[in-house]
Amino acid sequence: MKFVRSLVLVSSDPDSLARGAQEVHERLQREIQSAGLQEEVAVVPVGDLGRHGAAPLIVVYPEATIYGPVTPDDVPLLVEEHLRKGRIAVGLRASARELSGRIAWLSARRGTLPAEQRIVLARAGLIDPEDIEDYILHDGYEALGKALTQMTPVDVINAIGKSGLRGRGGAGFPTGMKWRFVSQTDSYPKYVICNADESEPGTFKDRLILEGDPHSIVEAMTIAGYAVGASEGYIYVRGEYVLAQERLDKAIDQARQMGFLGEDIFGSGFNFDIHIHTGAGAYICGEETALIESIEGKRGEPRARPPYPTTHGLWGKPTVVNNVETLANVPPIVRNGASWFRRFGTSNSPGTKVYTILGNVNVTGLVEVPMGITLREVIAIYGKGMKDGATFKLAQTGGSSGSIVPSSLQDTPMDFDSFARAGVSLGSGALLICNEDTCVVDLVKVLLNFFRRESCGKCTPCRVGTERAHQILTSLSEGTAELSDLRDLETLVDGLSQLSHCGLGQTAAVPIRDIFKHFRAEVEAHVRLKICPTGACSMSGR
Ligand code: SF4
Repeated sequence: MKFVRSLVLVSSDPDSLARGAQEVHERLQREIQSAGLQEEVAVVPVGDLGRHGAAPLIVVYPEATIYGPVTPDDVPLLVEEHLRKGRIAVGLRASARELSGRIAWLSARRGTLPAEQRIVLARAGLIDPEDIEDYILHDGYEALGKALTQMTPVDVINAIGKSGLRGRGGAGFPTGMKWRFVSQTDSYPKYVICNADESEPGTFKDRLILEGDPHSIVEAMTIAGYAVGASEGYIYVRGEYVLAQERLDKAIDQARQMGFLGEDIFGSGFNFDIHIHTGAGAYICGEETALIESIEGKRGEPRARPPYPTTHGLWGKPTVVNNVETLANVPPIVRNGASWFRRFGTSNSPGTKVYTILGNVNVTGLVEVPMGITLREVIAIYGKGMKDGATFKLAQTGGSSGSIVPSSLQDTPMDFDSFARAGVSLGSGALLICNEDTCVVDLVKVLLNFFRRESCGKCTPCRVGTERAHQILTSLSEGTAELSDLRDLETLVDGLSQLSHCGLGQTAAVPIRDIFKHFRAEVEAHVRLKICPTGACSMSGR
């Protein structure tokens, strides 16, 4: 890592690479070389920089000026104007809308907009994710050193417990409590698993953490291993996340070489190592017991619970399973203390949440904001309002297994407890924002099509129930359903939620239940009037 006058970050996540980030990167290096600036300017490919639709993005530091989307042909102007003459390359500004999006994001990074607070994404987009020295320069492995040399395992668990950190995979279970269960179980060996399967549609926050800051997960898992008494960890990575796997591979190798993994870490006598296991693309393997079965080489089907993985996990041994975002919070909590973490978010849901914003808003992408922000704020501040001035109708939170949130709940604070009181779930962090042209029947039909394909088939209520629910929703959208079909659909909701063996079947019922609860008149219009009020379904115009 050399010290330079200007640092040019190029977004190099799969989306940016598909849009020509590699060519931009190569052109930058050539132009910088021919301008004789190679000793003063460094170009670093980094993870996702957070604003989609404007990729590939370039950020020039120390000014933090953002350009995007950048093409290879834009590069000579950028090098000449910004890197050689030191002024903003205004000619690269593409449109007012993109510009406002870029300025909003830039302001947020500087902290002038309300709410955005980066804890887990603090380094993503700022450091070279393939350079362990860059990570160390940005406080990397400091928390591990502190834990191993100044804290007992109980101290670490107490710190995580006092911080109030709750699982960010969707369930919101207290992380410190989970760690304590494993540490108190007198059975060895123990394991730490990072659930990086992230197969929830519309959710890509974990990928961006893994691609942008892979060492943070290596560090967090090692701290977790020390806390619970495990000496081995597994990262279960979604098969499609090729770049994330490559970067994790490199991070683990570098950590081994530097002594942050392996034997006698920090001279503490503690040993820990990490393996990567690649998933094969089954949605159900995001469920922790199916994931464990998959690592053991079996078909990915959920186990009966109890017993829970905290006592009978991988190979029947005590196992901590944490989501990527949950783990990424661990090093900052250990480094800064529990009370520091509690400064963000709400009293029962401290810290931040990373949301992926999708759908009918002007700016899509991801933001990390304190727990408790409302949907209305997310749409207005980060989505830059509804696209084409449309009206907000609903949001689907948490991917396919989340809830459907109507406009009447858009001022509900987004934290675990407030959402639970309102009868909705926060889920994994995907926020699909839909306008008034969205048909709720059509939307839920698509979701049930997903669930019926992803059902592992182990139990009848889910295997048959998701298929039948999809059939009824299809007939609703085609105008061939009868009133009795609506009653059957409501019965199926009860059957799926009460009789399914695991969360997949149970949550398949949630969006159907939600449209009956919030949009019953619109659903019934498909049967009683044979019309789709939004005009989205195939029988519209009959
Ligand atoms: Fe498999 Fe669905 Fe039953 Fe879960 S609920 S075990 S995914 S069939």
